Amino acid sequence: MDKIIFLDIDGVLNVIGQGRDEFGQCFHKHFEDNLRWIIEQTGAKIVISSTWRMSGLSEMQRMWKYRNLAGEVIDITPTEVDVVERGTCEFYDQVDRGFEIQQWIDDNNVKCYCIIDDDNDMLPSQKNNFVRTANNKDHPDCIDIGYGLTRKCAERVVEILNKTCT
Ligand SMILES: [Mg+2]
Repeated sequence: MDKIIFLDIDGVLNVIGQGRDEFGQCFHKHFEDNLRWIIEQTGAKIVISSTWRMSGLSEMQRMWKYRNLAGEVIDITPTEVDVVERGTCEFYDQVDRGFEIQQWIDDNNVKCYCIIDDDNDMLPSQKNNFVRTANNKDHPDCIDIGYGLTRKCAERVVEILNKTCT
């Protein structure tokens, strides 16, 4: 199994809109570059965990190509409906993003992964494989009040993916 990045978009690549195209708000070039650097360093494949995935896998892949974003988007994570159907949670509002991601991890026997997200609703077991792109005011290249896939965040992602897997 490949190295996998579970990628959120808002608060990671998309912080303050950089104009729009047919897919929605354009991302920050600098954060796109940091993602490219991660892919170059790790060869990881991308699974979209953001709500942007609700427009579907093929639409995400089309956007990746159209915007010339780095890496290959191979899938999207299951929804809260899928998680409840599986019986992992009883109610939709109990479904943290960590559960959706964990279902993909379990279904695909993933050994090496990194979750990139500005929110914090991951599972305790995922803590060492999680890089949070919020509260990063001390990162020189953060945006707004400390959001975005900064260089420091990217370095941490590479460390996780290249250490866990070797
Ligand atoms: Mg987000």
